[in-house]
Amino acid sequence: MTEPVVDYAEVLTRYEPVLGLEVHVELATASKMFCGCATEFGAAPNTQTCPVCLGLPGALPVSNDTALASIVRIGLALNCTIAADSRFARKNYFYPDMPKDFQISQYDEPLCTDGWLDVPVVDPESQTDGVIRVGIERVHMEEDTGKLTHAGSTGRIHDAGYSLVDYNRSGIPLVEIVTRPITATGALAPQVARAYVTQLRDLLRALAVSDVRMEQGSLRCDVNVSLAPIGATAWGTRTETKNVNSLRSVERAVRYEMSRQAARLDAGQSIVQETRHFHEADGTTSAGRSKEQAEDYRYFPEPDLVPIQPDPAWVARLREDLPAAPHLRREQLHAEWGFTAAEMRDVVNAGAVELIAATVAAGTTPAGARKWWLGELARRATQLGVSAADLPITPAAVARIEQLVDAGTLTDTLARQVIEGVLAGEGEPDAVIAARDLQVVGGDGELGVAVDAALAAEPEVVERIRAGKHAAVGVIVGAVMKQTRGRADAARVRALVFERLGVVDEAAG
Ligand code: ADP
Ligand code: MG
Ligand code: ZN
Repeated sequence: MTEPVVDYAEVLTRYEPVLGLEVHVELATASKMFCGCATEFGAAPNTQTCPVCLGLPGALPVSNDTALASIVRIGLALNCTIAADSRFARKNYFYPDMPKDFQISQYDEPLCTDGWLDVPVVDPESQTDGVIRVGIERVHMEEDTGKLTHAGSTGRIHDAGYSLVDYNRSGIPLVEIVTRPITATGALAPQVARAYVTQLRDLLRALAVSDVRMEQGSLRCDVNVSLAPIGATAWGTRTETKNVNSLRSVERAVRYEMSRQAARLDAGQSIVQETRHFHEADGTTSAGRSKEQAEDYRYFPEPDLVPIQPDPAWVARLREDLPAAPHLRREQLHAEWGFTAAEMRDVVNAGAVELIAATVAAGTTPAGARKWWLGELARRATQLGVSAADLPITPAAVARIEQLVDAGTLTDTLARQVIEGVLAGEGEPDAVIAARDLQVVGGDGELGVAVDAALAAEPEVVERIRAGKHAAVGVIVGAVMKQTRGRADAARVRALVFERLGVVDEAAG
């Protein structure tokens, strides 16, 4: 059922793309938007619910002030106007992930409007750096819905035998950030889309308002694309590809839609205004819901909540506390971290500035944080074809691993195995260490037993070491490593061997 496409380079000879990006961000507040339920990811289904977020009749919502502060900070960081008076609205529709049959959202009175974000874009052809200013139409507050899991081979609702619903996510504060149409990008459209989401995610991470993890769904992106013949005065009809869940997919979705739409337009067909699904496996999209009959959500002001009227003095304080603009912040962090210019450049190119900042904030040295993000994690990201920030590991987890290495509880080798476990979804570092039994063999007692066994098994090697052939110690270290399944600290084993044999280690400092 694949649709015809036009070669990408050829698309640009006839058409000009227009983009629009809608980003949903789950805020990292401890409690939900309109009730006190916890928001922690990964809890057992339906354990974080109450009458309000289950939408039981008569339950009354109360706004979460921390969430409101977060959205105002996001709006300010995006150079928006903060409304003096803003309201929640009911968006009415039926879906089983939303038992109230309406979502509390904002409609014609959003909290933040009319901003912009400067996005650095590298032209891969000319290798020149440029900056594109993306207009922000609105930033508004809403609540998340529950999560449906459809049993069946495709995971889609229409061929599922049954579906499960988890309301833990229901009512988690969600901020929607909508761009103005992005024009005049030409061939760079896919890169611009990706660079915008990257820059926005970095900004949200610097604000510390969200985990911004695309693979867990705390940052989700809908990608709108249209094409118009070059020189046309009106824009074309757009499609909206929903829930694209990695940076690379954002880029691919734009590219594919441009090629697909061009083929339809070339054939004299029209573009249907519809939502589309993105397919990771082959980078294509397929039709979802048609938007031709404009949906009628029958929005009306939410009667159970008072209007939001932010105190100007409070907004001014939030503005003062904003982190510096990205380039200034980069300079500040560079100075704080004490990296060389070359090291800092590598960090910037790896897109790891905010990851390292968050890891340092979670309690490591800058050098310790850099070592993992630019070493093992960069390698893993390359293998998987994603950026380091897309890896399913948090800066807090990386900080924990580095602390354990620092304390001698993990060797670098063990730490890499812990990372492997975290990336494989086996849980946070401590859980992986426990499950895989990855602690360094503790205490010289346990290690001593292993060393003695290895020495007893290799009398010839012992003789060679005694005779001054110190390099032979490698055999003993290897045997101990084998016996402890790599959980021993090699330097400590070496020291123990020389101690046992009463030989002075010439290599020891
Ligand atoms: P919807 O309710 O359909 O999601 P929104 O207004 O929330 O609509 O978002 C539409 C997005 O598409 C915005 O980012 C907007 O700038 C963008 N957009 C509008 N018109 C076009 C167009 N012709 N081509 C591409 N993008 C567009
Ligand atoms: Mg929308
Ligand atoms: Zn609740």
